[in-house]
Amino acid sequence: QFIGFEDLKLMTFNAVPDLTLWDWLFESSSSPLQNKHPSTLSGFTNVATKERVRYDEVKDYATYLSTALVHKLGLAAGETVSLFSPNSIWYPVAMFATNRVGGLISGASPAYNVEEMTYALQTAQAKIIMAAASSLSVAVPAARNAGISNSHIILLEGQADGFSTVKDLLEFGQKYGNNQVAPYQIPAGRTNRDVCGFLSFSSGTTGLPKAVMISHSNVIAQCLQVAQITADNHTRVLAVLPLFHITGLVHQMHLPLFRNSEVYMLPTFTMQTMLETVVQYQISEMLLVPPILIRLLRDPIVQKYDLSHVRKFSSGAAPLSAEVIQALKSRFPNAGFKQGYGMTESCSCITAHPLDKSTYEYAHRVGTIVASTEVKIVDPDTGKELGYDMPGEILSRGPQIVMGYLNNEKATRETFDDEQWLHTGDIGFIDSEGFITITDRIKEMIKVKGIAVAPAELEDLLLGHPIVEDVAVGAIPDEYTGQRPKAYVVLKQDIRQNKTPGQILSLLDVIIDYVRKNKVRHKWISEAEMLDEIPKSASGKILRRILRQMESEKSMKG
Ligand code: AMP
Repeated sequence: QFIGFEDLKLMTFNAVPDLTLWDWLFESSSSPLQNKHPSTLSGFTNVATKERVRYDEVKDYATYLSTALVHKLGLAAGETVSLFSPNSIWYPVAMFATNRVGGLISGASPAYNVEEMTYALQTAQAKIIMAAASSLSVAVPAARNAGISNSHIILLEGQADGFSTVKDLLEFGQKYGNNQVAPYQIPAGRTNRDVCGFLSFSSGTTGLPKAVMISHSNVIAQCLQVAQITADNHTRVLAVLPLFHITGLVHQMHLPLFRNSEVYMLPTFTMQTMLETVVQYQISEMLLVPPILIRLLRDPIVQKYDLSHVRKFSSGAAPLSAEVIQALKSRFPNAGFKQGYGMTESCSCITAHPLDKSTYEYAHRVGTIVASTEVKIVDPDTGKELGYDMPGEILSRGPQIVMGYLNNEKATRETFDDEQWLHTGDIGFIDSEGFITITDRIKEMIKVKGIAVAPAELEDLLLGHPIVEDVAVGAIPDEYTGQRPKAYVVLKQDIRQNKTPGQILSLLDVIIDYVRKNKVRHKWISEAEMLDEIPKSASGKILRRILRQMESEKSMKG
C-alpha cells in the first residue's frame, strides 16, 4: 500500500483536532477570528448584489440563526436541515448555524423537481428546509410529501407571502441577547469522528442516491490536508461550483474561512459573470470542472477578458482529456495547473497536485496522495494488491473517509470494508513518482458535467413506463459533458410483435421524452436503443460491463 508521499506525510490521524467544526473554525486557536483583527477578516461576497458578510458577522449571524432554529423551529441536535438554494452568502450562514447546535446539513440541487426533492428530504429525514423563494414551487409540494409544514420552510433569498425569511429568524435570534443557545458539545465518550455534520447525496458504487454521512472530523481533516498544498497567495476564491456538492462544501466554504480567504459567490453561472468576477477581483486561481474549462477554450466571449493574471487552473469531479490539457497549455501557457481526485465518500480529495508540481507537465495525472492518507490498488476481480504502474481499483483509507450511508447498512458494508478501506469504484494506477492516473470507472455512476447520475434512479423511473418490459441505463462519452446517460430498452412483447420498425423508433423517442418530463436536465438520456434482452448475471444483476463493451465496439466500427 502507498502512503501520502514524502513531505506530504506531515499529518497523522491524531493531528486532526477533536473539536466540532464550529469550535475549530470560530473559537479555537486555529480560527482566523481568534488571531486576526476584525478589519482584516475576509468574508463571503455575492457578486451580483455586492452584499457581503465578513467572517465575524458570519459568526454572529450563525449564532442568532441557530438560536432561532432551536427556539422557534424546535431543531434538536442530530436533526437535519435541507438547504435547497443556488449559491448564496446566506448558504454558509445557514450551514454554520445548523452545525453550531449539532444539526446536520443536507444540500439539495436547486434544479431538483418535486419528486427528486421529496426523495432527498425523506432520505435525509429533514425537519426544516431553507430555500430560495424562486424554488418554492418545488419546495412546498416536496415538503408536504415529506411531512414538513410551511412554517418550517425558511427563505434564504427573496420573499413570499406566508413564509419567514432568514432575516426574520436573525431578528428573532438577536432578541435573545446574551441568552443565545450554546454551541453543541461532543458528548463524553464520543469524538468528532462520530458526530455527523452533513448528509450529501451520492449513489456510491451501485444503486440509488444515498445520504453520505460526513463527520465534523472528516471536514476538518480535509481542510488541513488541502491547506498544506494551497498557495499562500491564493486568498480570493471563485465560488462557481454548486455549494451542495462536496467540492463546494469544502473548497468554497470551510477551507476559505479557515484560511481567511475572500469567497466570491455567483448565484447563477454564466461565462460572462464568471469572467467579469475573475477580472474585477483579480482572482488568480480558478477551481472549475472540465465542461467549464472546455468553455474557456471555445467560447468567443473569453477573448474579451484579460486573464493574464490567472496563475492556476484547478480541475476536479470528472476526467479531463489530454486534448483539453494541451489546448489550455497553448492558450494559457504561463498558468499552473492542478487536479483533485476524490468523491463525496472521501469528503473531496484523496489525491491532488502538490504545489511544486502544479504544472501542465503533471496535469494528466490526478496528483499525489494527500497527507495521512493511504491508497491501495487492487485487482477488482481477485482483490489482490497490485504494484506500481498496474491498473486496478483504487482503495483509500484516511481521516477524510466518511462515516457511511445513513440507514443503509448493506451499502455501507459494500463500500467501506472491515479495515476501513473505501472502495472507490475507480480504476487507476500509481507510478514511481507517487502520482495517480485514473484510467476507468467500474462503478455504475455516470458523470454529466461533473454531476453524478445514478443509473438505478433512471431505471426505476423507466420500469414504471407502460411500454417498458425491462431496461438498463449506461453511459456514452460526450466531448463536452464527459458522459451522457443512454437507455437500453426491452419493449413489452405485444409492442415488439405488432409495431413496425418506424413505430418502434418513435416509441424510443417517447422514452427519451418521459425522462425529460420527470428528471432534472443533467439526468436526461440522449439516446435509447432497443434490445431483445438486458444482459444479466444468474442472480439478476445487470451486466453493465457488456453494455460498455457493446458501446466501445460500436465506436470502434465508427
Ligand atoms: P462525486 O461523489 O460526485 O464527487 O463523484 C466522485 C467520482 O467522480 C469519482 O469516484 C470519480 O469517478 C470521479 N472523479 C472525481 N474527480 C476526478 C478526477 N480528477 N478525474 C477523474 N475522475 C474524477
